[in-house]
Amino acid sequence: RESWLNRLKSGLRRTGSGIATVFTGTRIDEDLYEELEAALLMADSGVSATQHLLTDLRRRVKEAKATEPAAVKALLADAIADLLKPLQKPLVIGEHKPTVIMVAGVNGAGKTTSIGKLTRHLADDGASVLLAAADTFRAAAREQLAVWADRNTVDIVTQEGGDPAAVCFDAVSAGKARGKDVVLVDTAGRLPTQLHLMEELRKIRRVVNKADASAPHEVLLVIDGNTGQNALTQVKAFDEALQLTGLIITKLDGTAKGGVLCAIARERPVPVYFIGVGEKLEDLETFDAREYAQALLS
Ligand code: GDP
Repeated sequence: RESWLNRLKSGLRRTGSGIATVFTGTRIDEDLYEELEAALLMADSGVSATQHLLTDLRRRVKEAKATEPAAVKALLADAIADLLKPLQKPLVIGEHKPTVIMVAGVNGAGKTTSIGKLTRHLADDGASVLLAAADTFRAAAREQLAVWADRNTVDIVTQEGGDPAAVCFDAVSAGKARGKDVVLVDTAGRLPTQLHLMEELRKIRRVVNKADASAPHEVLLVIDGNTGQNALTQVKAFDEALQLTGLIITKLDGTAKGGVLCAIARERPVPVYFIGVGEKLEDLETFDAREYAQALLS
């Protein structure tokens, strides 16, 4: 546990150093707040979250009668942790059998890797998993998913060049017939046009719902933590099209834009089920608001 926290810290330090250095002086004055504002914006926290944090911090500083920058830094950690707290929510499996989890994300976000990691995480918890490779356009995507399935020794349903929604229907039916605990549906990340992509994802959602009237039970979006404010744009667009239930934020082991979680918390608070902190199968961690806030300020 220690090692991933260190990786998160060293990743976020690229952001964090900017925020942390604001507090290396000796005085609490307007300059400090101005520098802090700039540092939060640089870390891609966005205008709304930055203003919220500054107002909240001034109130906390007054209440605590803080006199030293170090104390202000600790109060900022509290303010960020409180802002991020609503994003901290566990992924719950077991209410439905199978629990159908649809996973979306633009190419390169780390979707396939995250599905591999999530499969491992679920299997470690004793759940049986079936993977549905609905990205029928890209042979490479199917092959990569098959490698992950192999590594995790789980079943995979796929079809070359077929209708993605039909693959999902088959997978959910197979998941039911085989008594699986979880069906993980990997969707395409890019189609000829962005509009087309959303249409296809909506279709998959509808067809999954035909195979099981209560499904999908979870709709996850995988986003690259390095994309900054663009991550927020993606959350909004996918949420509007698919009604997201959770996020997986990847590549937080090497980002200078860790403030984007503050923007998400403020503008589109979809729970963060997991964070990716490396390329290996075990590099998936549950999100903890306080740990994250502290890593951001390390
Ligand atoms: P997809 O196109 O969304 O399916 O993306 P992939 O799963 O193929 O991942 C794209 C690249 O990001 C690969 O090189 C992965 O190893 C890398 N990657 C994914 N998640 C993480 C992470 O949490 N940390 C780091 N450092 N790299 C990651």
